[in-house]
Amino acid sequence: MNNALILLAGGTGKRLNNSKKIPKQFIKFQSYNLIEYFLQNLDQNIFEIIQIVVKPSMQKKYLSKLKKEFFFHKINFVTSGNNRQKSSKNGIFSLRKINPKKVLIHDAARPLADNQLIKKLIKELDQCNACSPYIKHNDYIKYKLLNSKIDNNVLYHIQTPQAFNFKSILKAHTLTSLVNSNDDISLTENINIKTKYIKGKKTNFKITYKDDIELFNRLKIKIRRHGIGYDIHKINTKSKKKLTLCGVKISHPPLIGHSDADVGYHAICDSILGALSMRDIGYHFNNKNKKWKNANSKIFMKFCYQQLKRKKFIIVNLDINFICEKPNINKHAKKMINNISNILNLDKTKVTIKAKTNEKIIFIGNNEGIAAESIVQIQNE
Ligand code: ZN
Repeated sequence: MNNALILLAGGTGKRLNNSKKIPKQFIKFQSYNLIEYFLQNLDQNIFEIIQIVVKPSMQKKYLSKLKKEFFFHKINFVTSGNNRQKSSKNGIFSLRKINPKKVLIHDAARPLADNQLIKKLIKELDQCNACSPYIKHNDYIKYKLLNSKIDNNVLYHIQTPQAFNFKSILKAHTLTSLVNSNDDISLTENINIKTKYIKGKKTNFKITYKDDIELFNRLKIKIRRHGIGYDIHKINTKSKKKLTLCGVKISHPPLIGHSDADVGYHAICDSILGALSMRDIGYHFNNKNKKWKNANSKIFMKFCYQQLKRKKFIIVNLDINFICEKPNINKHAKKMINNISNILNLDKTKVTIKAKTNEKIIFIGNNEGIAAESIVQIQNE
């Protein structure tokens, strides 16, 4: 194992003074709390394991779905201590069996730490055992009690993540004489391990006061996600009924399916559910359930739209492909786009309908079925 991350989320955030008394790391900003925001933007291939140090009651209350929703990271929970140093120690000790080469320790209240800074810290550990980002003060600083100016050049903001060779930080937590340290670099320095300081980023500020929340809201990047959907149904050549594609009735033999077999809507639904990490259409509307027998697939589309709204996402664009020999899709594309934009409350310019034949090859080419695929991009509001 190479890299592990310890995310400290045990704090109670008393300085934020929010009316609901929710610790800041769990306050939802639109659809994500600070921990979720950080994890959403963290590259998947950096850490083999992420230990989130948190009070079990808080984990249950605010992070119960985290592992499932962020399945692309390997997340574990570790019980926090009654101060930062103890929480960090619990995180480090929880990694003893795994024994990673490098570990980064990060405060959950710094959700804007970016991948570039994180990767730089990891790289620095090839040359040192402890590394911390810092930034210089640029404000005029006055030490009130003595009423005298202090040289700005000797004051630094120390940030997290702080990066360590695992054995060094394990040793520091075991041997340190400190008991309530504000960061982990102080612990390694306390046992005479040299620190390499690298330039941090102003955007990687710690959310502490109400003002910081405003700043976070202005700075945070939009979360964008993508989803893909595919569906295929067989043509019922014997039926006299009409075909339904994206809600448009077309004079062509219909498709066979449990519902109205609208491959277009089904592919769109799967792409939206995929983008929301909500499995697929069959999971929500089981085709063994009589309730959905001959159902109008508009119902499934409306359900997907509700999920988007619930999770506070909007569609950036939706691109749909039909693959069939007949009918001529282009003839009906305008009506299809109208239907889609009505259900999803979406500007028509954001929807594209394209069509391909299968060059008369295999089952689609033989006019036995119609397939559709859909790609959607969504963004938080
Ligand atoms: Zn289907």
